[in-house]
Amino acid sequence: MTAAAPCAHPAAPTLYALTDQCVQCGLCLPVCPTYALEPIETESPRGRIALIKAWEAGSLAPTGAGDRHLDHCLGCRRCETACPAGVEYGPILIRSRAHQRERRAPGWRQRGAERLAAHSGLRRVALALYRMFWPLLPAALRPLPRPPRATARSAQAAGPPEAAVFIGCIAQQYEGPVRAALAALLDAIGVRASFPAAQTCCGALHAHGGDRATAQRLEAENRRAFAHAEVVLTLASGCHEAVADAVDGRAVDAIAYLARHVDAPHFAPRRERIALHLPCTQRNVVRSDAPLHDLLARVPELDVVVIDAGFGCCGAAGTQMMIDPARAARFRQPLLDQFASSGATRLLSANIGCRLHLANGTVLPVQHPLEFLSECLS
Ligand code: SF4
Ligand code: SF4
Repeated sequence: MTAAAPCAHPAAPTLYALTDQCVQCGLCLPVCPTYALEPIETESPRGRIALIKAWEAGSLAPTGAGDRHLDHCLGCRRCETACPAGVEYGPILIRSRAHQRERRAPGWRQRGAERLAAHSGLRRVALALYRMFWPLLPAALRPLPRPPRATARSAQAAGPPEAAVFIGCIAQQYEGPVRAALAALLDAIGVRASFPAAQTCCGALHAHGGDRATAQRLEAENRRAFAHAEVVLTLASGCHEAVADAVDGRAVDAIAYLARHVDAPHFAPRRERIALHLPCTQRNVVRSDAPLHDLLARVPELDVVVIDAGFGCCGAAGTQMMIDPARAARFRQPLLDQFASSGATRLLSANIGCRLHLANGTVLPVQHPLEFLSECLS
């Protein structure tokens, strides 16, 4: 899932001022996945910024067609990395979606996803039912892979914890093996993991849907839950930025944290070809792609193939894979084709949204990189 700050600082520049930074050079166009899919100005970052600016200035009235172009934005933030003027596209997107929500109610799928993310009891029941009926559902009604069996809550390590772990919302049900893998890898470098019980969803999904009030409430809950943690490890690149805002910069990507331990952990040789997908948020926001390459390079004999075909984004984009699965699948297909022809035995991806979206299109295993690395511990 994509990430961005759930709330703007009170003293932050106006949305109009943010859009006014754009000098319309167009250097962001070639890197934008939606522009690659539909090469028209309104599907580009420059076009969206111009649209938002005109809405803010009152020189253009919002229309359904304009809203759809903003809806199509994947929040991948590749445009930010290409922009020579330093345009902050992430905050522009979050704040324009909040304005959009004030005049247009979200659809039932978006509302449903937001409720499930924010309410753990409801989510537990819904995913248990989804798991039960999954074999009977047609493919069109399976926006996510079948959840694994419910696992016991992650055990609290004995002794004083040294690294608190952010779990997330849907990851609570899907990522039991990932948390076990992280605990094993941390143990290998002499660090204990803790999983504070009072934590909740990061709120990025709500912020991206324009619901800043809920995003701020969730941020406050996480601030309290991690008040005493020295370091907060994140497992999903899409959640990282929102968690970092909640815990005042104490969040560290778990991959980057492990990679800092230069000589440990030790990995056994592995004669295998694996495919690596680097989520947009991992490359453009968290920037833990280099540490991940570094960790994988420490596994002797491992052959890593980077899967990057197509448009530059897998199309998961927060709730977009559930709201518009056909469009999301168009972004995903080139990646799956490249994976299928690569000869790799499994696909690794460090963001839960991307991983669930990719897994829903292949029968081969799709894992978090830490699951694979924990298997390689010697
Ligand atoms: S965030 Fe991604 S999809 Fe949206 S305008 Fe920027 S590059 Fe395009
Ligand atoms: S690269 Fe930056 S300044 Fe140039 S058009 Fe895109 S957002 Fe505007």
